Formats: sequence, C-alpha cells, structure tokens
Amino acid sequence: MKKIVVQKFGGTSVADTDRIKKVAQTVIHEKELGNDVIVVVSAMGHTTDNLLKLAGEITSNPSPREMDALLSTGECVSIALLTMAIQSFGYKAVSLNAAQVGIYTENIHTKARIINIKTETLKKYLAEDNIIVIAGFQGMTSNGDITTLGRGGSDTSAVAIAATVQAERCDIYTDVNGVYTADPRIVPKATKLEEISYDEMLELSSVGANVMHPRAVETGKQHKLPIRVRSSFNINDIGTVIHGVRDMELQKPVTGVATDLSQVRIVACDVPDKPGTAAQLFGALAKEHISVDMIIQSYARKVENTNDIAFTIDKTDLPKAVSVLEKLRKEVNLGNVHIDNDIAKVSIIGAGMINNTGVASCMFKTLADLDINIKMISTSEIKISCLVDVNDSTKAVQALHDAFNLAGDEVAEVHGTLPD
Ligand code: ADP
Ligand code: ASP
Ligand code: MG
Repeated sequence: MKKIVVQKFGGTSVADTDRIKKVAQTVIHEKELGNDVIVVVSAMGHTTDNLLKLAGEITSNPSPREMDALLSTGECVSIALLTMAIQSFGYKAVSLNAAQVGIYTENIHTKARIINIKTETLKKYLAEDNIIVIAGFQGMTSNGDITTLGRGGSDTSAVAIAATVQAERCDIYTDVNGVYTADPRIVPKATKLEEISYDEMLELSSVGANVMHPRAVETGKQHKLPIRVRSSFNINDIGTVIHGVRDMELQKPVTGVATDLSQVRIVACDVPDKPGTAAQLFGALAKEHISVDMIIQSYARKVENTNDIAFTIDKTDLPKAVSVLEKLRKEVNLGNVHIDNDIAKVSIIGAGMINNTGVASCMFKTLADLDINIKMISTSEIKISCLVDVNDSTKAVQALHDAFNLAGDEVAEVHGTLPD
C-alpha cells in the first residue's frame, strides 16, 4: 500500500491565484514521490477576517449557526481553485467539503471539536488515484448543520484527517520557515527550532504562538503523528518537526516566548467567601462553553466576608460571559464586575524549566527592569505566564527572548501581512 501524506496550506499560502498554482506544484511534487496525497486548505488570505467584518456590518449579535454557515464559505473557494490548478497540470484531483468527507463534530457552533471522520469517500477517491483537496476549518453536526472549529482550525482538520487515515506525516505549510523561539514578526532574530516536543508545542501554541492550532498538536500527540511546520514559500527548508520527547540534557531552560492578545480580564468584586461560590460562577460559564484561563482569588476580607475573583477568557466570549454574570448577580450576590480589555498574556515555555531554578525570578526581574507591572501570574510545569498591559507586550517578549539567550544570527523570513 502507498504511504499517505497530508499537506495543509494556510491563508497566506493560497492568498492569490499565483500562490495557488505554486501550491499545486508542491502538492504534485509529493505525489510524484510516489505517495497518496490529501491536501487541506484554509480560506484565501484575509477572507475569514473579511467575512467576520461583513457579519459585523449586519448585526453585533449574529446567530452562531449562521456565523458558521458564513465563515465556512472561505475554505470552499480555496478547495475548488486549488483542485482546478492541480487538474490544469494534468493530475487527477477532487475537492471535498467537510460534509462530503463526513467530518462530524459536536453540536457547538464557532468552536466545535471533531468527533469522527468517515474514511469511505477518501478511500474511494485515493483508490482512483486522485489527489484529494479538503476544506479545512469546517465540520458538520449529526443533523447536517455546518460547524467551524475555531480560528486557525484548519491545522486541526489536517492533523485529525492525517491521524484518521494513518498518514505517514502531516506537513503544515505556512508563511514562516518553521516554529521559532518567538513570533519572528515580533522578534526578527528569533531562532528556528529543528524540532520541538508535542508538550512544549502544545504549551507554546496555547499561550499565543498561532503558528499551530493547539488542538492540532493535541491530536498529533494522541496519535503519535509527526507534524512538520514549514514554509510554502521556501520548500527547500524542511522546517520544524513536532514529535515525541527530545533530549532533555541539551535543552536551555526556556524554549520559546509568546504573547496572547486575545484575552480579556474580568474581575468579580465582593463575592461571598463561602463554599460553592466558585463552583457556581465557573459552572455557569462552563455551561455556556466559555473556557476560563487564568484565575486568581484574593484573600478574604474578614469583616465583609467577601473576596474578589479575577479570571481571563477569550475576547469573543465576553458578551456571553457578561450575560452569565448578570444572571448570577442575585443568585450569588455578586458586587461590581470590572472588565479589562487592554491586557496581554506574556509567557515563557520550556521542558528544561523543570530542572532549573531561578527561571521565574529571571522572568519577573526582566519585566521589573522595564517597569512592567504584572497583573496576574499562572504556571505549569513547563510554562510561566504573566498578564501585563497590552502596550507592554512587545517589549516584554523582546526582553524575555534576550534574557533567556534565545536569539539567533539571522533575521527570519516572513511573508504576508497581518490583518488590521
Ligand atoms: P497560516 O495562515 O499558514 O495558518 P498563521 O498566521 O495561522 O498561518 O500562522 C503563522 C504565523 O504565526 C506566522 O506568520 C507568525 O507571525 C506567527 N507565529 C507566532 N508565534 C510563532 C512562532 N513561535 N514561530 C513561528 N511563527 C509564529
Ligand atoms: N480560515 C480560518 C481562519 O482564518 C481557519 C484557518 O485558517 O485555519 O481562522
Ligand atoms: Mg494558522
């Protein structure tokens, strides 16, 4: 049996028809090596952002079902155009959307998780020697509604498909040469990593390194599927491989630095200090599928018998969270609620932290030397995150990258522009 290789191309890689023709050649090259090829594509350029803007011009509160119906259209354009491009070079190819493949997800809109992927249609087209081009980011519920997997979700589509068909590997083609020690748009002299473990990549992407969707890394880890992050603009560079454990002895304490600007902080003041309050508050948020990241509960004020609970969530969940808190106000006897939009979470990650002391103090001192105030702190075995003012985010990342000696000699190559 032939080996199957899954290739995923992100928005910048298919931004225009010239790029799509280039991608077709990269796909054909893999096919010519004797492999079966399944391709997963994102929407062209900034299409998804533009679709979001259009929805915003109609209503500030669109129905999540219709939002998914709208956002999923971007990927439909890319699959048809890429398939035409592959066919125009004389190769057999077929485009499939998520419903045609049978990519089933939970019945949750705008951030659905994949439950099951059918293989019958894929096997049939591969047996007929087709290159298959699948729309990333989309799924369908068991009752036929279209869902999407969350921003950046095409990576997860690709890795989940690769795991399902037991692919040899999954190549994530993007607009930088691999995974770097920091976003090369923020730290131009960031160093490209030859390899990174699933665990470190999972932490790095979860704290804002959007080069990989965290759920894609999680799926790769579960199935022990090697993932290669590489550039569609520079196919001679083999990029970064994400795989199992690497040699701990060789590691620096910190592997990477990242920042996340997508969160908002909510502070619930004067919350009754009694058993069950936190369970009620976070239970109500969980019921609305709002995931909470950092949490701090202050020391109880003895006289009033209250404390404050601060937590962070994704900005897109803010309207839902506000209405949850409004409903809870009487039940839980909440005081004032403050919302802080202008925050950034700056993080350092590295498996080498486990064996090194002084990493946290070095991080705090680096921020202190820049007069940056830390609003919240959270840690895991291989990560330390500090919440800071959004205006301090870039200088914090650059200083931390220097403080942990991560810089390389060359300026990284980046393509495409970030949305406004
Ligand atoms: P695609 O459209 O191909 O999915 P994304 O924009 O989602 O591309 O991800 C690629 C971007 O991720 C890069 O352009 C880079 O700015 C950003 N990025 C953030 N952190 C990192 C990192 N540690 N290494 C590489 N790229 C990073
Ligand atoms: N097009 C979607 C987005 O922009 C999915 C993806 O590119 O991964 O988020
Ligand atoms: Mg992406």
